[in-house]
Amino acid sequence: MMVKPIKRLGQNFLQDKNIVRKISEVINPKKDEKIIEIGPGEGALTEILSESGAEVIAIEIDKRIIEQLKANYPSIRIINQDFLEIDLTEFNSSELRIVGNIPYNITSPIIFKLIENHKIIRDAVFMVQYEVAKRMTAKKGSKDYGILSVLLSYFAETEFCFKVSPNVFYPRPKVFSAVVKINFKKNLDESLNKTFIQIVKAAFGNRRKTLKNSLSNSIFAQLNFSGCGVDLSLRAEQLDLSDFIKLAEFAREKYSDHLN
Ligand code: SAM
Repeated sequence: MMVKPIKRLGQNFLQDKNIVRKISEVINPKKDEKIIEIGPGEGALTEILSESGAEVIAIEIDKRIIEQLKANYPSIRIINQDFLEIDLTEFNSSELRIVGNIPYNITSPIIFKLIENHKIIRDAVFMVQYEVAKRMTAKKGSKDYGILSVLLSYFAETEFCFKVSPNVFYPRPKVFSAVVKINFKKNLDESLNKTFIQIVKAAFGNRRKTLKNSLSNSIFAQLNFSGCGVDLSLRAEQLDLSDFIKLAEFAREKYSDHLN
């Protein structure tokens, strides 16, 4: 152990070579790819990434680890910064791959950042908390189905790869983990994205309320959704992706009518 783990930074270091191998099979890093690793820590994944011949950029917030990482992995670029503050466009790629055994307390902000930058990201492979992995991949009708599931199903195809025991980390976390792979879609209707995100957040504003109620308590309060093609007496958790798209398209049209 090189450093004393800091809980606030989500430092649970992966110790198990077999899990590292399984993650590397999912990532399958190739020469000439540009791969960003979030939070390399002591380098559990960094090693296999640096051996692949890919161009690796490792972003680690904890400056205590930086010198050691630079010494161990001289062929990769190591940046001592908060991933959430990095401008991803500066890497000059439209096919970025983002990987990491990420700090669990910032999983949602990381995913939102990826969604915002989806046009320049090919895919992401993350180890996250098991409960979050279930929410990311949940289908309509499951209790885990929510904002994260719907947004990810719109912007990407997300795969639950495998579950991971707390025993493979030091220190041992209280919860199970899982590896997920997010493949971002190309050819989205970019003019719908912003309204789509707003609609999904508004619809899930209160899970127990009907759509009619949730929408009238949201930023869409002024819009009359009758005629939108979706049954407004349903709750958000009963809608599938195509219903949310219908709502967003309807709101977009109404707003453009309003502006013209
Ligand atoms: N990848 C290593 C492994 O698998 O053993 C470490 C994983 S540990 C769960 C998360 C890592 O992310 C830690 O090294 C931590 O210092 C780093 N980290 C935490 N917050 C960060 C942030 N905002 N930006 C970049 N790295 C961060």
